[in-house]
Amino acid sequence: MKRLCVFCGSSAGHDPVFAAAARELGAAIARKRWGLVYGAGNVGLMGVLADAVLAAEGEVIGVIPEALVAKELAHRGLSELHIVASMHERKALMAELADGFVAMPGGFGTLDEFCEILTWAQLGLHRKPCGLLNVAGYFDPLLQQVERAVAGGFVRAEHQGLFVVETEPMKLLQRLVKFTPPKVEKWIRAEET
Ligand code: AMP
Repeated sequence: MKRLCVFCGSSAGHDPVFAAAARELGAAIARKRWGLVYGAGNVGLMGVLADAVLAAEGEVIGVIPEALVAKELAHRGLSELHIVASMHERKALMAELADGFVAMPGGFGTLDEFCEILTWAQLGLHRKPCGLLNVAGYFDPLLQQVERAVAGGFVRAEHQGLFVVETEPMKLLQRLVKFTPPKVEKWIRAEET
């Protein structure tokens, strides 16, 4: 693992426990000497996370669509900033640059990015480890929904093993290193998407 991609809120959330977790995750990534790949925002948990990695002299690579740069939402102190044309290009480039993925609390953007990366894993397009940082039980209802989807026959039971869940940042990073993805049938090749 050289670079970890983190998806998280462009808002900080009401409870300060979320920003504290973002700082802790940033410090843990830097302690492992991994680079951070993220959406390049200077707002919410995204900004807190990037600042924590930079404060520990870690590498931070941001990928942001030009429309968000125009709104002055890009962090200007990053090690590398990639400006792309669209949200779709951003997701593709973040996925290519990273060796693993973590989602921590966030809104629609975070859920979208995490579900898409899991969908790609389920299709056999990548075998990179994915994890959820379940801060203060934030993702409990999402985990229940996944159980519901398995029970209802919409998600295969073995696909629940496509991601790991932890409440402590450093423990999560250690789980990602040891992660062996479940066997998935390779339905399509990347060129076919
Ligand atoms: P959300 O969880 O809805 O706050 O969206 C956060 C996710 O969507 C991040 O991981 C980003 O990649 C992207 N995103 C949404 N809003 C912004 C923003 N203002 N600046 C940068 N990235 C954003």
